[in-house]
Amino acid sequence: MKEFDYVIIGGGCAGLSLAYELDIHKKLSDKTLAIIEPRQEYKKDKTWSFWKVTPHNFDDCVKKSWENFSINVPGKTNYLECKNYPYQSIDSGLFYKKINNKLRENKNISYFKDIKEINIKNSFVFNSVPEIKKNHLSLWQHFCGVEIETHNNFFDEEIFNLMDFDCEQRESVHFFYTLPYSKRKALVETTWLSKMNDNSQKDYDEQIKNYIEKHLKIKNYEITYKEEGAIPLFYPLYEKKKNQINIGTAGGMTRLSTGYTFLNIQHHCKFIRENFENISNVSRFEINKKYQFLDDIFLRVLNKHPEKMSDIFFNMFKTSPKTVIKFLSNKSNYLEDVSIILRMPKWTFIKALFY
Ligand SMILES: Cc1cc2nc3c(=O)[nH]c(=O)nc-3n(C[C@H](O)[C@H](O)[C@H](O)COP(=O)(O)OP(=O)(O)OC[C@H]3O[C@@H](n4cnc5c(N)ncnc54)[C@H](O)[C@@H]3O)c2cc1C
Repeated sequence: MKEFDYVIIGGGCAGLSLAYELDIHKKLSDKTLAIIEPRQEYKKDKTWSFWKVTPHNFDDCVKKSWENFSINVPGKTNYLECKNYPYQSIDSGLFYKKINNKLRENKNISYFKDIKEINIKNSFVFNSVPEIKKNHLSLWQHFCGVEIETHNNFFDEEIFNLMDFDCEQRESVHFFYTLPYSKRKALVETTWLSKMNDNSQKDYDEQIKNYIEKHLKIKNYEITYKEEGAIPLFYPLYEKKKNQINIGTAGGMTRLSTGYTFLNIQHHCKFIRENFENISNVSRFEINKKYQFLDDIFLRVLNKHPEKMSDIFFNMFKTSPKTVIKFLSNKSNYLEDVSIILRMPKWTFIKALFY
């Protein structure tokens, strides 16, 4: 069976980002890499959005970028600016195409559908397939989004809506999220933060239809694309192995309070590339411990008091948007952390330390 110096298990966001980062920095000119990916074909299946707090390799895959956003709870809307850190939306279809076209030029990279096709005994492995232990108490962010095209101009494409809590909550945390790509085109997503087992929240089509037709009051439109997914708001199992590093969701790159993962994956790939020659000896790359601690408390509050979360998110954004964005993107300093913490209901959070 064939052997390779390096193996990436899973050619999704993290696997391909890593292969691309290594390839463009010429780390594979005299080393071999196998990418294991079972999917038959690559097509657009996700829209990755985030505040651009650092440069990344995929500006040419950005579908749209915004410098203004809003957040609302019933009866109240807050309009905010994000000029310093624009919010970007990446089209996964463009991302897969760009990377696969580039990697195909490198003869040292091979693709396989199943790990059983090669011998990995002597390889260094980057694994992006998470091992998730199902637990009925675990929290998930689960969602469904549709891209719609309206017959008439409807959207203001200069401002996106990050969270609209003016919708039924069903004793959970629920909001809609709208990214207007143009006056007639937008992604509308229904998002739940809850225990995944609860199938009573999965009538996504009905939720989206009601929101578009009754809340936004759009009558004539077509659905042109649909995506559905779930992000674990807990860290998957990460067994320490000598010749293996987990990447992506499997590697703990999700910010648990928000589900944001894309930019953390890019930071991790850069870290691996910078330490590539000594990769089996470097310590594990993690999201800063202070965010792990704060997110843990945040999720305890969310679990115990879902009814308070819409106001908590709304009030968080009353701090300067720049501070909140830095906080949510792992870039805040201690003073900025304190200004966010002071916006939280103190007793609720202090009590959460002891749940
Ligand atoms: C629909 C959706 C939207 C998201 N939107 C955002 C967002 O807006 N912003 C953000 O920051 N994050 C977002 N996320 C979270 C996160 O960025 C994505 O999940 C991202 O794709 C994670 O990258 P990954 O490589 O860990 O996993 P994936 O991209 O899922 O890649 C894993 C790969 O492993 C392959 N695979 C599965 N089983 C095996 C196996 N046995 N052997 C080999 N390969 C296997 C899969 O086919 C897949 O290609 C979103 C997630 C989803 C699901």
